[in-house]
Amino acid sequence: MWFSKSQEEVIKEFNVDPSVGLSKEEAAKRLEQYGMNKLKGKPKKSILSLFFSQLNDMLIYVLLGAAAITIAIGEYSDAIIILLVVVLNAVIGVVQEAKAEKAVEALQKMTTPKSLVRRDGEVIEINSEEVVPGDLIILDAGRFIPADIRLIESANLQIEESALTGESVPTNKDASAIHSDPNTSLGDKTNMAFMSTLVTYGRGEGIVVATAMDTEIGKIAKILDDDTNEMTPLQKRLDELGRILGFLAIGICVLIFVIALIQKRDILEMFLTAISLAVAAIPEGLAAIVAIVLALGVTRMSKINAIVKKLPAVETLGSVNIICSDKTGTLTQNKMTVTKHYTYGSLTDVSQSAENLSGTNNEKELIKTLVLCSDATYENGQGTGDPTEIALIVLGNKYNLTKDALNKEHKRVSEFPFDSDRKLMSTLNIEGKGYRVNTKGAIDNLLQICNTVLVEGNIVPLTDDIKQKFLKVTEEMSDSALRVLGAAYKDTEEIIEPGEMEKDLTLVGLVGMIDPPRLEVKDSIREAKNAGIIPIMITGDHKNTAVAIAKELDIAESIDQSITGTEIDQMSDEEFSRRINDYRVFARVSPEHKVKIVRAFKAQGNIVSMTGDGVNDAPSLKYADIGVAMGITGTDVAKGASDMILTDDNFTTIVHAIEEGRNIYNNIKKAVIFLLSCNLGEVIAIFLSILLNWPVPLLATHLLWINLITDSLPAISLGVDPGDHDVMKYKPRNPKESFFARGAGVRAILGGTLIGLLTLTAFYYGLWEHNIPLGTTGIDLSNPNHQNALTYARTMAFVVLAASQLFYSLSMRNTTKSIFQVGLFKNKYLIGAIAVGLILQLAVISIPAFAKAFQVQNLSLQDWGIVFVFALVPLIVNEIIKIFMHMSEKNKHVEY
Ligand code: ATP
Repeated sequence: MWFSKSQEEVIKEFNVDPSVGLSKEEAAKRLEQYGMNKLKGKPKKSILSLFFSQLNDMLIYVLLGAAAITIAIGEYSDAIIILLVVVLNAVIGVVQEAKAEKAVEALQKMTTPKSLVRRDGEVIEINSEEVVPGDLIILDAGRFIPADIRLIESANLQIEESALTGESVPTNKDASAIHSDPNTSLGDKTNMAFMSTLVTYGRGEGIVVATAMDTEIGKIAKILDDDTNEMTPLQKRLDELGRILGFLAIGICVLIFVIALIQKRDILEMFLTAISLAVAAIPEGLAAIVAIVLALGVTRMSKINAIVKKLPAVETLGSVNIICSDKTGTLTQNKMTVTKHYTYGSLTDVSQSAENLSGTNNEKELIKTLVLCSDATYENGQGTGDPTEIALIVLGNKYNLTKDALNKEHKRVSEFPFDSDRKLMSTLNIEGKGYRVNTKGAIDNLLQICNTVLVEGNIVPLTDDIKQKFLKVTEEMSDSALRVLGAAYKDTEEIIEPGEMEKDLTLVGLVGMIDPPRLEVKDSIREAKNAGIIPIMITGDHKNTAVAIAKELDIAESIDQSITGTEIDQMSDEEFSRRINDYRVFARVSPEHKVKIVRAFKAQGNIVSMTGDGVNDAPSLKYADIGVAMGITGTDVAKGASDMILTDDNFTTIVHAIEEGRNIYNNIKKAVIFLLSCNLGEVIAIFLSILLNWPVPLLATHLLWINLITDSLPAISLGVDPGDHDVMKYKPRNPKESFFARGAGVRAILGGTLIGLLTLTAFYYGLWEHNIPLGTTGIDLSNPNHQNALTYARTMAFVVLAASQLFYSLSMRNTTKSIFQVGLFKNKYLIGAIAVGLILQLAVISIPAFAKAFQVQNLSLQDWGIVFVFALVPLIVNEIIKIFMHMSEKNKHVEY
């Protein structure tokens, strides 16, 4: 019943000094005692259950049925092979799934919420899981509350508790309240803050009173373990494709079976062939391949500082053609330094190294106002808090107006926090016998609420003439890329409400601070433009400052390409969306404008990525095709609403992520097209042989072996193919474009046809070499010579099928560049997969036990030579086609 106790009682009970917090040792002890602060999730799947879930598949049931039948009729070796293949396939599946799961888990760990706690007198950020009872938590807007907390301080604190109460209107919190009624409802406990709820406004501090399952949310056991197994659009499309191909395959199988019946072939053999053909033709592995490639891809992306939270984002990244980016911190370094300040009639340069400056009285008043109205701190060369404010504190230090000294003399009694809509912040401090409102913020907004101005120590009316002077200085500073912040104050006799603070103020002056652009951004902007992507700057800053930086970074060429929030408001939605493509810089915008901007860009058919960090950015992040949250400066809300988080807050990372996204999509395409051509090859070989009334060139076990074992390895290796930097030379992919567009379908059909025909040719060659006439009737199975010839021919077909697929995979790595241009050995996994595939193939035909089970025989060196010649054909043909394509489409982009 912490809500009915006084702050002192709670502090005593938890044995903690709120100004110091727990010691690190004490925190460690309590962590041991109370355990990690996390809600119990669903138990993890065991390896065994993962294994069995692999078997839970229609196709596998069919195979198991086939195994049962083969056992019943005494064909034990067939049964063993079928079962072996099923088990091996499931093992490969488990390994893949476990790997994918581990990758996703590692990503989740990176995005676990963090909390600000005071320990040993210092404010530090820790993983929320490590929070213990008695910890002192600092709350600010945008943060999720890590545990149940009894508040001991609150300043305009508002918390949205819908996760717990369902009420989405934020509750006002009051640390000083005490609720004596033991039946006070959750929503009315204004002196408490609960786990998983969200600070939407203001600041506060509190002591953790319950963690993990002891919290209110833990008690109602609302497990937050939401399953994020959502399929990506591509996975859905491939699933659909798989189903269609599946039905088609079953149709073909029935057809083959019927034809074979008419031809009076061996029923059992045809039954097994039809089943294995179905296995060969149904591309059941497609969705699984996509899942593993995506999972491995996002792991790679996390290493370049982009954490993808939602898998579909990877695909969408490849289609992005507009990157909307915040300016401060993303395009610039967010390292502010005040270089100029202005009070009426006096513009002063502050050199970076200057110390012990003495200013005029007006200048001192300006700096005092700015420092008192700042929350940031700067100690021992280290700043914490908003970089804009750190720059102001540093400025104060130069003039010997330190934050500590000023705060001691002018204690803060109330405040109206900064928000990006008002673009202002105010504090109420003690001043002599009364109080003073100190306000700082965007100069245009400040001018609207000032009616007097400080001129040489006197307060005089703010005439239009003086206003113009201030605006002119602002414009000059902005034109040289300085961020301008104004300061104003007013004296009051008593404490006033925040709503009363920002009116009738006296303007004191302004400061200009530089925030240099990030060095690497200029290159990334060029790269983005080359890749058909338009970079857009969106900022709360002044138009001229924004345009100056945009010009420096080559985002915009002239001020005509910029527009302010106010100007946007004056346009109708239709007009705005019609003209949106003309703009490159959106200045003085608030979070609501961001939604408007995304909507307008989307209305013009663009695929938009939007960055954000604040509480109010969530709607625009959600509405954008790719919402990108800042990892360092971003609030939990922004991170929660985003599809991707930048751990370094850097624009360059977005461009890198797009490149990765394009590569991952391409890799998925390579793997899928490869698998489809393999499947097609097998279908063609069997189907034609039946139509031609030949003996079947491949036995059921051969098809199963190749399809489920030797194909999987190159497919996965293609999925992790090293990225091709050239993807950034092409236009973004149209998201509606068919998966088989740009020659991909042709490649699958061509590859498949060649593989199928070569397999048949190898078979034909095998029989021809033994002078066996073709046609079922021509073969006499009681004749050992014929029997031998058939085994030999099947072995040739079997090995050619496997090897031609393995070699063909090399050619799949790039649609236009030859295997040498992309580097023959660059994808080590693929080379390994091909080698393993060939060794396995060799093992199957040369180890007597296997050879017997698969009804194949060892091949001579000469035969292997022939096999290689056959098997290289699809690869060589595809490479020749690339040369022609290169010649005829030199200037056309084939992929992207
Ligand atoms: P971006 O959206 O690119 O990050 P920004 O940081 O300039 O740009 P905001 O943080 O919304 O955007 O700031 C908008 C304006 O509000 C600034 O140009 C400045 O004039 C003013 N401002 C920024 N920080 C503060 C602050 N701590 N106190 C008072 N005013 C501020």
